[in-house]
Amino acid sequence: MQCEMVCALKSFQVKKMGSLGLLAVEVPEQFKGAGLDYLAYSIAVEEISRGCASTGVIASVNNSLYLGPILKFGSEEQKHKWISPFTSGDKIGCFALSEPGNGSDAGAASTMARLDGDEWVLNGTKAWITNAWDASATVVFATTDKSLKHKGISAFLVPMPTAGLSLGKKEDKLGIRASSTANLIFEDCRIPKDNLLGQLGMGFKIAMQTLDGGRIGIASQALGIAQAALDCAVDYAEKRMAFGSPITKLQAIQFKLADMAVALESARLLTWRAAMLKDNGKPFTKEAAMAKLAASEAATNIAHQAIQILGGMGYVTEMPAERHYRDARITEIYEGTSEIQRLVIAGQLLKAYRS
Ligand SMILES: Cc1cc2nc3c(=O)[nH]c(=O)nc-3n(C[C@H](O)[C@H](O)[C@H](O)COP(=O)(O)OP(=O)(O)OC[C@H]3O[C@@H](n4cnc5c(N)ncnc54)[C@H](O)[C@@H]3O)c2cc1C
Repeated sequence: MQCEMVCALKSFQVKKMGSLGLLAVEVPEQFKGAGLDYLAYSIAVEEISRGCASTGVIASVNNSLYLGPILKFGSEEQKHKWISPFTSGDKIGCFALSEPGNGSDAGAASTMARLDGDEWVLNGTKAWITNAWDASATVVFATTDKSLKHKGISAFLVPMPTAGLSLGKKEDKLGIRASSTANLIFEDCRIPKDNLLGQLGMGFKIAMQTLDGGRIGIASQALGIAQAALDCAVDYAEKRMAFGSPITKLQAIQFKLADMAVALESARLLTWRAAMLKDNGKPFTKEAAMAKLAASEAATNIAHQAIQILGGMGYVTEMPAERHYRDARITEIYEGTSEIQRLVIAGQLLKAYRS
């Protein structure tokens, strides 16, 4: 599809999601959100991603990574200014934590922020930022005191576009190709002193707590991709004839479908449990990591098996199975790789045993 057509379609989909309340599901109505809970958000992201995983991540980033931290850590004034205009689909936001030199090791941020009179001056490069080319604002993490390491990181609200902030090229990706991903390059980018989000030095905590919620969103995106791959495999297998009958009559195919369904349902229950814990104000760090790990690995495996069930038709763009396979892969990487999720889970598990 032509680039202009993709952009127009994307803008239409974003506006449609905004009008349905899907870009600010958890945001209270007083700030123009849908005023629902995280379980509703999870179900919404799953269903959107079942149709289109790119649209799913656009929604997930705006809900969890951009609006989420402002809702939790922003002042009343910041909430009105930086949340309400980002609920309708007219504007979307992004979240800039990763850098070219550090992704998993987010505490090693080298982007700097220095106070100069009434302004913060930002310098550095943020990498892989989802929604970068479409965003009207970003939550960005920068070091205000290098000697304090991760305790010297702070969070800032930056309007886009703004002087001193430029975008890198759009990354040419394996999957989620309709979602823009690019570097944010800060060169003496000046923002008002009041654009500090939360307290000075609280940035790493804000980032980690935001990612706990974000992981439920990515788990939900993975569920949607996995469900779409299973739907496609069942539909094809019911129609495809081999040796005189539909291939669903073959036990080898039935076993594959059964394993796919079990992996999907298990991951969905983990995801909903994490969402419900969050909704009830209970700790959910471990459960969100479990949900993301299980759902992303399920999505990759289910999409892999779906291609196998479709045979040659699984390998061509005429059918959606190859797209699900490409889209699924990113869910094991962003918002913490599967290795990082295992570290989080083991850390929480051991802490509980030792206490
Ligand atoms: C399409 C896309 C969109 C993204 N969107 C955003 C975004 O909107 N905002 C944002 O801030 N970031 C974003 N990211 C960045 C993403 O979160 C990082 O790519 C991810 O956290 C991994 O970091 P890295 O790529 O630097 O890999 P690295 O950290 O270099 O890791 C490389 C490998 O080493 C492993 N590894 C690293 N540390 C450990 C450890 N301690 N133990 C075991 N294994 C380890 C990793 O699991 C991985 O397998 C996006 C990335 C992509 C590809």
